[in-house]
Amino acid sequence: MTYLLPKTPGGVPEKQSLLFGKAPVIKRKIGIKPYLCARNSRPKEMKRIFCPKCDNQMAFDETRFPQGKVLAFVCPQCGHQFKIRLGRKVVRTKDGELEEVKEADFSKGYISVIENSFGYKQELPLVEGDNVIGRRNKDTDGVDVPIITSDPSMGRKHCVIQVKADTEGKYIYSLRDFPSLTGTFLFNTLLGKNERVNIETGAIVTIGATTFILHTADE
Ligand SMILES: [Zn+2]
Repeated sequence: MTYLLPKTPGGVPEKQSLLFGKAPVIKRKIGIKPYLCARNSRPKEMKRIFCPKCDNQMAFDETRFPQGKVLAFVCPQCGHQFKIRLGRKVVRTKDGELEEVKEADFSKGYISVIENSFGYKQELPLVEGDNVIGRRNKDTDGVDVPIITSDPSMGRKHCVIQVKADTEGKYIYSLRDFPSLTGTFLFNTLLGKNERVNIETGAIVTIGATTFILHTADE
């Protein structure tokens, strides 16, 4: 049983085409309706998936569909067709390969990336331990918190937020530069080499031309 997803009202925003310099390619097949989505800010209940072929990000509201149902997607960027089954953490591509779907877990805190001319607003969850933060690139390994942006002054591995539970189980957050070429700024002050600073909710961090805000677990 295949559920077909409706086209987003308004389709892909004009800004996306400008930002990424690529008009969305839509392949239509009888019986398969492509689902288009923005790389835009999304509420937390939106499920985020990546095209297995070109790594384009898509999001949809999974609460609108029953668990266990198969949804068909057509990537608006490359036209690749793939399916996911709700409630499962893998997607099967047309080639039969399995691709893991990242489930967002915001319970350890998250960063909120402020929209600028290089990228949209994004909320990206943190995990316990070291979170390497930087510019998302499909060939980059070892980046735990990939920011989708074209910001050329943001490194692929730019800074690190460590999330560590103290003896009472309260999470402590600390920030350090990875190190990066352009440095990491906390409230507009450049962190020193090898400097590690404890940060609290509302901390404003700038990497390259991009700024994000820390939201802690107990916020
Ligand atoms: Zn694609």
